[in-house]
Amino acid sequence: MQDIINRFISYVTIDTESDPNSNTTPSTEKQWDLANKLVEELKAMGMQDVTIDENAYIMATLPSNVAHDVPTIGFVAHFDTTPDFTGANVKPQIVENYDGRDIVLNAEQNIILSPDYFEDLLQYKGQTLITTDGTTLLGADDKAGITEIMTAMDYLIKHPEIKHGKIRVGFTPDEEIGRGAHKFDVEKFGAEWAYTMDGSQIGELEYENFNAAGAKITFQGKSVHPGYAKGKMINSMLLANQFISELPINEVPERTTGYEGFFHLHDIHGSIEETVVELIIRDHNKDHFEARKALIQTIADKINTAYEKQFGGPICEAIVKDQYFNMREKVEPVFHIVEIAEKAMKELNITPIIKPIRGGTDGAQLSFKGLPCPNIFAGGHNFHGKYEYVPVESMVKATEVIVKIAELTAQK
Ligand SMILES: [Zn+2]
Repeated sequence: MQDIINRFISYVTIDTESDPNSNTTPSTEKQWDLANKLVEELKAMGMQDVTIDENAYIMATLPSNVAHDVPTIGFVAHFDTTPDFTGANVKPQIVENYDGRDIVLNAEQNIILSPDYFEDLLQYKGQTLITTDGTTLLGADDKAGITEIMTAMDYLIKHPEIKHGKIRVGFTPDEEIGRGAHKFDVEKFGAEWAYTMDGSQIGELEYENFNAAGAKITFQGKSVHPGYAKGKMINSMLLANQFISELPINEVPERTTGYEGFFHLHDIHGSIEETVVELIIRDHNKDHFEARKALIQTIADKINTAYEKQFGGPICEAIVKDQYFNMREKVEPVFHIVEIAEKAMKELNITPIIKPIRGGTDGAQLSFKGLPCPNIFAGGHNFHGKYEYVPVESMVKATEVIVKIAELTAQK
C-alpha cells in the first residue's frame, strides 16, 4: 500500500493542467514533465515497445506469457488535470484510519471536508484517504488511473506465475479539454478492446454515455424607433424567447436523471437586430437524440414561416452539430468485454455499479475510432475541485481489477 501511495504522490505533485485555449498537443508544455517521467518508469520496470510520440501519447507493451492465442487488451488513462481548478503545488494530505468525522483540509482558511455534505466519505471509515490541503485539486482524476495501471503492470512483471496475454498501456494528454482521444492512434495501439481507468467510486463500470450535439440558433431582427414601431419592428430577443419557450420545459439538466435526455441552454446574447442562442442536446437513446435535433429545426422552421413575409426571408438559422455518441452501440456487439470486467470485480468482492454516464468519456471517442472501451473506477471522489479525495484501498482494488481482467482474458 505504501508503494501505491508513494507512486500516486509522485504523480500528483507534478502540475499537468491542460488548457482549452491552446491549439497545441499537449495543450500545455508542463504535461511533458509527467509524460517523460512515465516513459522512464515504464522502461525501468521492464515494459516493452515504450513509445512517446510528438503529441505526448505514451504506449507500452507487456508481452504475453502464454503459448495460446489471447486477444490483446489495453488499459488507458490520462495524465492531464482539469483547467477548472488549479493543479499547481498540490500538497497531498494522508488521513490514516479515517474516523468518519470532518477532515480539516486547511485550518487557516477553514476548509473542511465533511461527511455531512459528502456522505460518500462514510463508506471509507477505517481506510486511508488522500486529500488536498484545500487550495488545489488533488489530481486523482486521473493520476489514480495512471498509478493503478503502472502498479498492475509492475506486479504482473514481478509475478510471471500470473498468466496473461499481450497487454497494451496508453497514457494520453488533454482528456479534460475533450481532446484525449483525438490523436490517439488506435491502429498503433493494436488492442482488440481496452478500458479507461477513469471512473470515480469503487465498483463503477460504465459502457453507456450520452449522444451529444450542440446547437446555435441565430435570430435576426429589425430596429425601428419604438414610438413608431407598430407593424415594423422585429425584436430578435423576443423571437429567441419564443423559440426557447417551445422547448419541453421539464427536459433540462436540473429536472432529469438516469436515462432522461435534455436540452441545456447555456448561452444567450443579443440585441434587437440579432440574438444568438446556444444550447446542448443530450440523450442516451439514438432515436430520441435524433428527434431532439429535429425539434430544433421544426421550431426554427415555424418561426421562419411566421415571419417570412414581414422579414422577406428566413429570420432564423439553426446549426446543429454532433459532438460525440453513445459507446453502447460499439460495446454491445462485444459485450463480453463488460462481462469480463464485471466478473473480475465480483471475484475480488467488489460490487459492480453499472450506470449510464450523463456525459462523455474518452472511451466513447475511442470506441467510435474502433477500440471498444468501457470505463472502470479509479477510486477518486469530488473531481475537479479542492474537495477531491481518494481512498488508497480503492486504488489497490482497481489495481487488482486490472490484474484480474488480464488473468481472466487469458483463461481458455
Ligand atoms: Zn478523468
